[in-house]
Amino acid sequence: MSSEIRTTTLPSGEAVLVLGQGTWKTGEDRGRRADEVAALRLGLDLGITLIDTAEMYAGGGAEEVVAEAITGRRDETFLVSKVLPTNASQAGVKRACENSLKRLATDRIDLYLLHWPGTVPLAETVEAFEALKNAGKIRHWGVSNFDTDEMEELVGLPSGGNVQTNQILYNLSRRGPEFDLAPWSLKRGIPLMAYSPVEQGALARNARLDAVAARHNATSAQIALAWVMAQPGVIAIPKASRQEHVRQNAAALDIALTAEDFADLDRAFPPPTRKRGLEMI
Ligand code: NAP
Repeated sequence: MSSEIRTTTLPSGEAVLVLGQGTWKTGEDRGRRADEVAALRLGLDLGITLIDTAEMYAGGGAEEVVAEAITGRRDETFLVSKVLPTNASQAGVKRACENSLKRLATDRIDLYLLHWPGTVPLAETVEAFEALKNAGKIRHWGVSNFDTDEMEELVGLPSGGNVQTNQILYNLSRRGPEFDLAPWSLKRGIPLMAYSPVEQGALARNARLDAVAARHNATSAQIALAWVMAQPGVIAIPKASRQEHVRQNAAALDIALTAEDFADLDRAFPPPTRKRGLEMI
């Protein structure tokens, strides 16, 4: 675990580590389940207590793997799950949440997100989230894959200002959000949760990271992760089913990038100069 525990603060005032564990593609293959559970448990041992999952992943299978991994450790875990936009109606959200709670074998989700914007009026989904909060089924709610205009609409709704995060695709090769969404979020104190922070493994093999990695005696994936975690108000949620990767990701918390590193990375992965629509994987 990092000597200096780096956290960011949710609008609720709660501090969360700038590193979490993702679970997309987890729970798809029974033969890999033991490894997936062991990797998540190792992450918890290393202090990476935020776990991100969704009802969509493996059709609920990922939530079941998470349940196994956090058995006996629920109270130390900060659980994030997501409702599909097709379930985002008042009744749909309630039902989806109950199903997620069952699969997760818990009585509450710490942060419940709308997976991406859909056709159900946002005000209805927000109302459903607030009702779940009042019932103690979720502690906080947020959104995912929302661009700046969608965030503007959200915070203008009754209780819309209770949004705790926006989970988006953000990494060195996907810097579009820096043009407006990231400054907008930072100004309002709403942390971004960066998904696919190593571009689903592609940045681990990208030679443009080699020089900075060599300076820190680190891997390219660690540099990609350190860069995301160095952005103000950003939480990275890499997925790692190999224990070696979990260890390396935890160790990336200790990498302090220098001004020279940031300049080199800006040259290799230039920041945006104009607005681009938010990308999604
Ligand atoms: P990612 O975390 O960028 O990449 C995962 C891949 O990178 C895996 O193949 C993993 O390998 C590998 N990896 C992890 N750490 C590594 C390291 N230190 N060195 C080398 N390779 C490493 O991609 P992601 O899974 O798409 O995104 C992360 C999480 O974000 C997801 O799991 C999910 O929870 C969330 N997400 C959310 C959305 C959304 O719409 N809200 C969309 C996509 C993802 P191993 O598994 O073999 O260890």
